[in-house]
Formats: sequence, structure tokens, C-alpha cells
Amino acid sequence: MRVLIAGGGIGGLALAIALRRRGLEARVFERAPQYLVCGAAQTLWPNGVHALRELGLDERVVRRGWPLNQTIIRTPRGRVLSRTNIARVARRADAPAVCIRRAALQRALIEATPREVVTSGVTCAGFEDESEGVTLRFENGKRVEGDVLVGADGLKSVVRGQMLGTRPPRRIGHTLWRCIVPFADAGLRAGHGFETWSRGVRFGAIQVDEGHAYWYAAINTRRGQHRDDARSADHALLMERFGAWHEPIPALLKATRGLPIIRTDIVDRRPLRSWWRGRVALLGDAAHPMTPDLGQGACQAIEDAVALADCLARTGEVRPGLAAYERRRWRRAASMARQSFRMARLSQLSDPVLCWARDVATRATPQALIERALHKNISAARLTEG
Ligand SMILES: Cc1cc2nc3c(=O)[nH]c(=O)nc-3n(C[C@H](O)[C@H](O)[C@H](O)COP(=O)(O)OP(=O)(O)OC[C@H]3O[C@@H](n4cnc5c(N)ncnc54)[C@H](O)[C@@H]3O)c2cc1C
Repeated sequence: MRVLIAGGGIGGLALAIALRRRGLEARVFERAPQYLVCGAAQTLWPNGVHALRELGLDERVVRRGWPLNQTIIRTPRGRVLSRTNIARVARRADAPAVCIRRAALQRALIEATPREVVTSGVTCAGFEDESEGVTLRFENGKRVEGDVLVGADGLKSVVRGQMLGTRPPRRIGHTLWRCIVPFADAGLRAGHGFETWSRGVRFGAIQVDEGHAYWYAAINTRRGQHRDDARSADHALLMERFGAWHEPIPALLKATRGLPIIRTDIVDRRPLRSWWRGRVALLGDAAHPMTPDLGQGACQAIEDAVALADCLARTGEVRPGLAAYERRRWRRAASMARQSFRMARLSQLSDPVLCWARDVATRATPQALIERALHKNISAARLTEG
């Protein structure tokens, strides 16, 4: 079976590796002419590490990241609202939680993918799905034929657009700024990530490698509010909003001066029930883009990849394989997307009374409850039949 993969991001590369491990042929078509060192950092939860284990890559990836042992939620003055022992939950889930540079994760996947599998610098433009096979078309006029096409082309997937129509993603209502900075802080280095909540604004940070921390700041915004701002304005805006918050927030922002800050309006899409049609299926953000609030988007894309390869290899047929993949994956991915959306709404509340109630409830929630809910999300999913 010859599988064509549109998009060579985290999900597309993971799928190519998973398919080849099952003896199936895979070809990846990636728009970017070369893999850039882009993006900031990501949390890989134990479920993502388990999925990487199926690809033989867990140790290689974990080595390149930094353990996340605890998360602390605070108020801007530094008062602790909640402290979750991530290391304990991760031990129960039998895999670590780590923060890793996106580029390092991508590099580990590229290193595990034979060169001839990936064609880069080609933009997929559409497909023809016929009874005998599927043809993927490119903007340069070229075409390629296969038995299955997987749209792993991200949030604005062309494959999804042709399958389901080109509705824009749903704007959540806040903008996220983020950066990796050279930084030394005992708490962060101990693997204690934190998030600090106020009204419609939030700041978080986590260690990403030996000498660097990753921070992110979220502010409720109107559509396009900061789109045309000069990048130099970002730092000034963040200093104004967060400069008086507890340490190490001001120190992180000072360490950021002169570094490129990434700015993103946060979006998602309502979960899909149907992930395939004919010989074409969706995977990762093309199927289920979610807000970053649970840190599960990439983890879910890798889980999808392992499950899809298993379903195609086991059934040996296209349509039964794609149907089995959808059955195995849609509930879990939809649940993650819904929880992420709710978490985004909760942590970006702006009404003072609701924020007060949120903070009181966060302080009062027993750790055992939080750890139980977390364990459900981050323990290994059933991805294969074996
Ligand atoms: C701010 C932020 C923080 C996040 N934090 C986390 C986190 O902590 N943990 C986590 O697990 N997830 C996180 N995520 C989510 C994660 O980044 C995504 O879910 C993940 O990258 C999805 O992988 P993917 O392969 O589906 O899509 P992508 O990684 O976006 O890859 C899609 C690929 O397709 C290519 N492409 C697009 N269109 C075409 C085309 N027409 N032709 C050919 N190629 C094309 C793109 O160039 C890209 O390489 C975060 C996301 C954001 C925005």
C-alpha cells in the first residue's frame, strides 16, 4: 500500500516513520523548502512519549528536552493557587513529561525519516479521489498517485478544505506571545513550570534545556488587534502588562530584550466526527486543531500517526483501515479539544467576580482530583491492537 502524506510537520513525519516500521510505503510532501528552526517549545506529556516509544524515538526525544516535575498556578503577586505533582502522575503513567524545543522534536523525527521519503518545497493544491487510487496535485502542476492520501497539512489544511469546505478556524479571543530565552532560575531548572493568572491575562514559563527557559504570555484581544504592530512594540507591551508581576516574570522579560517574540492569535475548530472519505483521511491539526492549553496538539498528532499506521497495516485495505482509524481516535482527540477550549476560557476569564470564584475554586480543589483527571489524559492511549 502506497500512502501519500500532505505535510511534513510533526504528524506527517511521525506517520511516515510509523508506516515504514509496519512495512508500508510512505511519501511525504512538505511545503517548506527546508526545515527551519521555527516555533518555540512544546510540552510532551507521557501519552506523547508513549506514542514516540512505538516509533522507537522516545529516548532520543526525551534526552533533548527538560523534565516537567511540577506545575504551579499563582496570582500576579505570587500567591500559590495550586501545585500539581507532575512527576508523580508521570511515574504512574510510566513515562516522563518533558518540555522540548519544537525544532528539536522536528529534528528527531527528520533524522528517523529516510531522505528519499520526504519531498520538500512542494505545495499540495488538491486531490482526485477515484475508485482505483488517489492523485495528489501540487501548485507546480505536478501530480503523484497513491492508494491513500493523508492530510497532515496542519491548521489550514488544503486536504481538509477540499473534503469539508474552507471555513476559517474559530478565534478563541486571545493572543499568545512566546519566546525561548537564556535564563537560569532554580525553580524552573528543578522542573517547576508555572502559570500566573489574572483578569484576561496570563503568563507561564518552563525550563526547556540546560540554559534556556520558555515563556508565554496570553492577553485577551479583539480580532486583528495586534496584527500590524511593529514587533518591537511587543516587548514594550509585555513589560507594561507583566513587568510588575512576581519574579521571575520581570527577569524573563528583561532577558527577552532584542530576541524575536512569536505572536499568535489562538484558534481551534469544533471537533469533527468524520475524519475520512474514500481514500483520503485527516491527521493531527488538519483533523482536530486545539488550543494549546492542555499541551496536547502534537501529542495527539503522534498518537494519530501510530494508530493510523496500525489500522492500515492490520486491515491491509484502505477503507476498512481508515474506518478503524477514525473509530480508534475521534473520541479521544475530540475530548482533548473540548477540554483545551474550556481551559482556555477558564484561564482567560476577565470578569472580576468570575476570576475571584475561579481562583477560590482552584485553591479549594483537592490535588488528588486534579491528578486523577490529569492521569486520565496523559496515560498511554490504546493506539494499536497488539
Ligand atoms: C502556541 C502553541 C503552543 C503549543 N504547545 C503545544 C504543546 O505544548 N504540546 C503539544 O503537544 N502541542 C502543542 N501545540 C500544538 C502543536 O504545535 C500542533 O498540534 C502540532 O504541531 C500539530 O502537528 P501537525 O503535523 O498536525 O501540524 P503542523 O506541525 O502544523 O505541520 C503541518 C505541516 O504541513 C505543511 N503544510 C501546510 N500546508 C501545506 C501544503 N498545502 N502542502 C504541503 N505542505 C503543507 C506545513 O509547512 C507543516 O510543516 C501548540 C500549538 C501552539 C500554536
